Amino acid sequence: MKRILITGGAGFIGSHLCERLLREGNDIICLDNYFTGSKSNIRHLLDNHNFELVRHDITEPYYAEVDQIYNLACPASPVHYQYNPIKTMKTSFYGAMNMLGLAKRMEAKILQASTSEVYGDPAIHPQVEDYWGNVNPIGVRSCYDEGKRAAETLFMDYHRQNGVQIKIIRIFNTYGPRMNPQDGRVVSNFIVQALKGEHITIYGDGSQTRSFQYVDDLVEAMIRMMATDRDFIGPVNIGNPVEFTMLELAAEILRITGSRSKLVYMPLPSDDPRQRQPDITLAKEKLEAWEPKVKLVDGLKQTIEYFDKLLSQS
Ligand code: NAD
Ligand code: UDP
Ligand code: UDP
Repeated sequence: MKRILITGGAGFIGSHLCERLLREGNDIICLDNYFTGSKSNIRHLLDNHNFELVRHDITEPYYAEVDQIYNLACPASPVHYQYNPIKTMKTSFYGAMNMLGLAKRMEAKILQASTSEVYGDPAIHPQVEDYWGNVNPIGVRSCYDEGKRAAETLFMDYHRQNGVQIKIIRIFNTYGPRMNPQDGRVVSNFIVQALKGEHITIYGDGSQTRSFQYVDDLVEAMIRMMATDRDFIGPVNIGNPVEFTMLELAAEILRITGSRSKLVYMPLPSDDPRQRQPDITLAKEKLEAWEPKVKLVDGLKQTIEYFDKLLSQS
């Protein structure tokens, strides 16, 4: 049994990770300030004696006895990370520093949930880990993109200077049950709109592409990454390389839900990347032949079922 701290544990990805690591018999501290996460995401775990919930903001120091840390705390959707961009930078940087200080003191392993956004609007396609990115340092998305880049730098320097055992993963778009329906991300928006019979909001002409992985595939990769040898620190891309346009995504969601919602076209947000697709060669090589297993149609069905239930309760 390991003592594992999951920051941002009451969020979308964090709650799935808490669930999985508890199931494997670990002792979990789920830390969250509930900015975008919610107690309802982890309520079903509260009866488990190995689960502890802590309300805390990682921009403040935190002391506990742990063997591993998964650092996920950070608003992740454009709507939420732009709500208070200075706070987003603080969470990315001071939050990472505090968790690295904790890892250093405890000699704990620490995994950083970085993002494909460190590649910005990429000039090469698909993106490989040694591509340095094309990021606007002064735009409205910069608080998140540059915050996550600075966090990677800090992780690398704690590793080089203090010998902290780090792991960096760059997560590409992920979806699944417990996404926040208010966070404006495309999968949750389209599903909620389709289920309510509202217009489906296509930003731009809908020809921009993304590749989405189902949350269970990501959680599997995170656990495998944490278990790798000391000398493998990443960064490593974790995502599903199957790429499609936002118009194709809308069509698939309309098909599965049987909704008659119409498409409406709206302005493209600034700095919205044209295309994004992970090269996952490194992950396959280093994470015991890991690769995404859940097909879009199956993952969407699970997610639609979740939102359907959620909407019927509200
Ligand atoms: P989420 O918003 O559901 O989860 C983030 C959690 O962190 C929330 O529960 C929130 O309340 C908490 N949090 C935010 N600031 C905090 C602070 N200062 N102190 C303590 N807790 C704080 O988002 P998610 O999609 O689950 O993302 C989790 C992590 O994965 C984030 O770091 C995000 O950048 C990264 N990521 C996610 C995706 C994706 O597609 N979902 C892609 C790339 C990277
Ligand atoms: N820190 C923390 N928990 C710990 C150890 C450190 O939150 O268990 C914080 C500490 O308050 C500091 C940060 O992590 O702000 C970085 O710690 P480090 O030891 O690297 O730096 P120093 O304290 O020497 O500035
Ligand atoms: N998008 C859209 N309609 C929406 C929400 C998003 O067309 O209602 C587009 C958005 O402009 C982007 C893509 O879908 O091109 C993915 O957006 P999301 O915010 O989910 O992720 P990110 O831009 O961070 O990859």
